[in-house]
Amino acid sequence: MPPLPIETRLRTELADLACQGLARRRRLLQSPCGPQAEVEGRKMLAFASNDYLGLAAHPALAEAMAEGALRWGAGSGASHLVSGHLAPHAALEQRLAEFTGFPRALTFSTGYLANLAVSPTLAPGRDDAIFADKLNHASLIDAARLSRARHHRYPHNDMAALARLLAASDARTKVIVSDTVFSMDGDLAPLPELFELAERFDAWLVVDDAHGFGVLGPHGEGSLAHCRLPAHPRVILMGTLGKAAGVGGAFVAGSEIAIDYLLQKARSYIFTTAQPPAVATALMKSLELIAAGDDRRAHLQALIRQLQEALSGLPWQLLPSATAIQPLLVGDNEAALALSQALWEQGLWVVAIRPPTVPAGSARLRISLSAAHRPEDVARLAEALRGLA
Ligand SMILES: *Cc1c(COP(=O)(O)O)cnc(C)c1O
Repeated sequence: MPPLPIETRLRTELADLACQGLARRRRLLQSPCGPQAEVEGRKMLAFASNDYLGLAAHPALAEAMAEGALRWGAGSGASHLVSGHLAPHAALEQRLAEFTGFPRALTFSTGYLANLAVSPTLAPGRDDAIFADKLNHASLIDAARLSRARHHRYPHNDMAALARLLAASDARTKVIVSDTVFSMDGDLAPLPELFELAERFDAWLVVDDAHGFGVLGPHGEGSLAHCRLPAHPRVILMGTLGKAAGVGGAFVAGSEIAIDYLLQKARSYIFTTAQPPAVATALMKSLELIAAGDDRRAHLQALIRQLQEALSGLPWQLLPSATAIQPLLVGDNEAALALSQALWEQGLWVVAIRPPTVPAGSARLRISLSAAHRPEDVARLAEALRGLA
């Protein structure tokens, strides 16, 4: 068949992406998620997933999921408000609320959907305003786009700029939205200062703890606990369950009234099928392992320190990060891609992150550590990078 005329624009844009070194590709994984990965027929050492605690392929979670499926079936059959809210979902909500210290939680099938539920529902109208960090995750940006509210984006972690924007706003409802741990930088938002501004300007504080939940806090409760922030009624916590928790899905936790409001009004909660109940039974097991996971977290911290020491003095800088996300700044798109490719040829899988995921000129390798890595794994990566410098 000859190409359709309507395909011409797509073809041109795809060719442009390829020219700029921005074309993306998927690697086919032929083993479960883990450091020792079989990828496209090759044995690789992977530093690529968000499985920070090494739970994604944990047999106890797979068992809990299998048992859950045998007991509750494969699917939930409907959205939560129709007939798809099963006992495992309710148990998971309750456990998540207890674990995070909030009165109540709602579960979602993905973090993307959870973020779409929060800010557009709290701040839907033209007389509302959303204040967002410029480096917030794409799903938070898309959430703001679903709302008619004014969308103010402040420079990364710039609390003075945020304070000025809040002071100048006469919005009916103000919502401050921030990642806790920034997904491509690994640094932390100044949560106490964000909370103080939310108090001062009577705003909601919505935090996305995708990369903090399970990893930070005394027992993995997340970034709020790490910063000793209380489960205050003006705070709404979103956490994902497909990263450190190793399964999939997400939750939003908050006050009784905030959560009830989301349940009644959030379109991405209402108009989507509830996650399979076996996902919830697997997550119950995961929360147990997270709470009892101090050894995993201590091991992860030791690997982070080891990597930072081993990579000092290289031509590329590690961005300052105390989390499992350790980005090595390269700058140029092609150079980042070439470095990733050179590592690949040595059996090391580290993903290059390029615009538009990160700002132009800041392409990087996103080295992602997991409690499933061994010190030898980190040493091997550091040695390979030194050899390529
Ligand atoms: C991964 C991620 C999400 C999306 O969560 P999914 O469950 O993968 O849809 C949202 N926010 C941040 C910061 C993330 O890193």
